[in-house]
Amino acid sequence: MGYHQIRFEKDSDKAIHNESLQKALVNVTDRFRSARNKASSKVSDWEELRTAARKIKKDTIANLDHYLVQLEESVKRAGGKVHWAKDADEASRIIVNIAKDGKVKSVVKSKSMATEEIELNSSFEQAAIKVVETDLGEYIIQLAGEHPSHIIAPAIHKTKDDISKLFSEKLGIPYYEKPEELTKVAREKLRSEFLSAGMGVSGANFAVAETGTIVVVENEGNARLTTTVPKIHVALVGIEKLIPRYEDLSLFLTILARSATGQKSSTYVSFITGPKREADIDGPEEFHLVLLDNGRSKILESEQTRESLYCIRCGACLNNCPVYRHVGGHSYGWVYSGPIGAIITPQLMGIDKAPELPFASSLCGACHDVCPVKIDFPKVLLELRKNVIESKEKNIRAGGAFLEKAGIKFWRFSVEHETIYKLLNKLSYYFQTPWKQSNGKLRSLPYPFSRWTDERDFPSVAKKTFRERWKELKDETG
Ligand code: SF4
Repeated sequence: MGYHQIRFEKDSDKAIHNESLQKALVNVTDRFRSARNKASSKVSDWEELRTAARKIKKDTIANLDHYLVQLEESVKRAGGKVHWAKDADEASRIIVNIAKDGKVKSVVKSKSMATEEIELNSSFEQAAIKVVETDLGEYIIQLAGEHPSHIIAPAIHKTKDDISKLFSEKLGIPYYEKPEELTKVAREKLRSEFLSAGMGVSGANFAVAETGTIVVVENEGNARLTTTVPKIHVALVGIEKLIPRYEDLSLFLTILARSATGQKSSTYVSFITGPKREADIDGPEEFHLVLLDNGRSKILESEQTRESLYCIRCGACLNNCPVYRHVGGHSYGWVYSGPIGAIITPQLMGIDKAPELPFASSLCGACHDVCPVKIDFPKVLLELRKNVIESKEKNIRAGGAFLEKAGIKFWRFSVEHETIYKLLNKLSYYFQTPWKQSNGKLRSLPYPFSRWTDERDFPSVAKKTFRERWKELKDETG
């Protein structure tokens, strides 16, 4: 799983020194932040709405098995097909097979973090099926061969100049300066892709158990085209995206748009229930819902951290996080970045694969303050930090026992052979030089000695052995 190794410390250091990234990050996150603050302040019962949304998510996640079965029945009743994917490979296999069965040559996609998570584009490419991202931000990063750096604004790390150069180089067009000109080019290129695609792939912001409806929220209209023009529509949805009832949508749509972009409502909200019906004039002939687990049911096991699954992917925690605002999304090394990335990635990938991320926070709580479902980030981060320490200690204990035994055997052998002991003493005296401080102490020794010297210093090896010093003293005192 994962397209990068998580090297938060190293990558964030690089990001901090990238001037153009710093400029892009501040511009966009500031804009989102103030829009969100303004929009939420105009809703008099905002806090009550957040509390109610959290309560619904808590109930849904606690009873996920029940709601998932209900969702499956509802989708089937509406004429759709439901597929269960335990991991990324299985999800990709299912979707590529649907495309092959439908003799699909090209696919259009709307923005979906779940498809990023399973690296669906590379699976399509391996199967020689053309895949085109249709969200403008996703289209930009697909052209650049990069990955998203923000949940709702995938190309946030790129300046206008970066995009002008990219379009000119990859699409063979003149260097256009104005965003309107660049958007027009993308729109013209994408229009023909929609018309020729045999399959559209989307994610979903919500999946309603009661009716089998999936809800897709967007501002460009590309998701609506993706889900209605091609003859097959596949929606890949993480199992945590469920909400129980259709009436819950009014609450979630109210908090989502305001938290994400500060809009009262996103420009396009599509409610999709099954494939096209007889009376419909458009819509896909086939509708497939692929339900993705990929580590989510494991998260359910922990009462302390399971609230990470309440997330509705609004991006507000990223825009308000002092760490994200300085290091950007790519420093987090995988699909999910910012505070939500810091808690969800280690749980989806396994704590040993992302041990740095729970520490990528000052625990200031800004994320908790803005999260529309009130995820208690400081609590979850502290729990994950505890898990990281426990896991490291376990690994050290396993490796340490072997090293300890080997060290004691070696020590015994050397003290039983005087010549070897003296030789080792002399060698250690000279080899220690790179780590010897002016005060005669040792610091920053290599592993495993670093486990001591990372925290404190260590006495250096003396030039003479105890016996040699003893003899000298005896001679001096007669
Ligand atoms: S954790 Fe909360 S604030 Fe962050 S993306 Fe998810 S819902 Fe939005």
